[in-house]
Amino acid sequence: MIVGEQKPIEEIKKMVAPYKKLLILGCGTCVKTCFAGGEDETAALASALRMAFRTEGVSIEIDEQTVERQCENEFIQEAAKKIGENDAVLSLACGAGVQAMARRFPKEPVYPGLNTTFIGVQESHGVFTEECSGCGNCELGNFGGICPVTRCSKKLLNGPCGGSQKGICEVDANTECAWQLIIDRLKTLGQLNNLRTYIPPKNWKTSNSGGPRKLVREDHII
Ligand code: SF4
Ligand code: SF4
Repeated sequence: MIVGEQKPIEEIKKMVAPYKKLLILGCGTCVKTCFAGGEDETAALASALRMAFRTEGVSIEIDEQTVERQCENEFIQEAAKKIGENDAVLSLACGAGVQAMARRFPKEPVYPGLNTTFIGVQESHGVFTEECSGCGNCELGNFGGICPVTRCSKKLLNGPCGGSQKGICEVDANTECAWQLIIDRLKTLGQLNNLRTYIPPKNWKTSNSGGPRKLVREDHII
């Protein structure tokens, strides 16, 4: 899922201050799971903003709605009525959702309420970890399903670097050494021989370093 966190309320206030009627639009999928932009967070932020503006004597009407996914036109459409009734939208979706909204409603100002941080998983309740950098050419099969591109601080494809101690990365004491994890996992799978094969330098053209990417599924185009 895409992981994000809410922007500081002072930053949000500055963005939306010029408007008299604001819609806060939550997104009910990834950012709901990471407690940043679902229905509950939308309601909490709306209350906090109303209170903050009222305390300062600023008059602003704040409306709220949450759609299932702001990155899909089908769901975005459900917000069209409220968007038409308000002067601006504060989107609590990831950066893709914010841009999808701006594309769908070109005349409406749309602002980001979240900082989109990474593609990750919920490791335990309330703890999210980055697991994939979306490199466009997945090599997890070589590494027992653990991504060194994302989880090794040096992005080593032929690790380890030799600096880890007791399974902890030498770059950050709070990070497990990805290569220790890879070796342990390959050992469990009986695939340690994978490590005898040299992995050539990665071609980053398939990543975002090669510019914005597009995926076209001809079989789904109508
Ligand atoms: S190899 Fe690339 S696509 Fe696969 S998990 Fe790592 S970053 Fe993501
Ligand atoms: S200690 Fe492990 S995770 Fe950290 S940089 Fe070295 S190989 Fe990568």
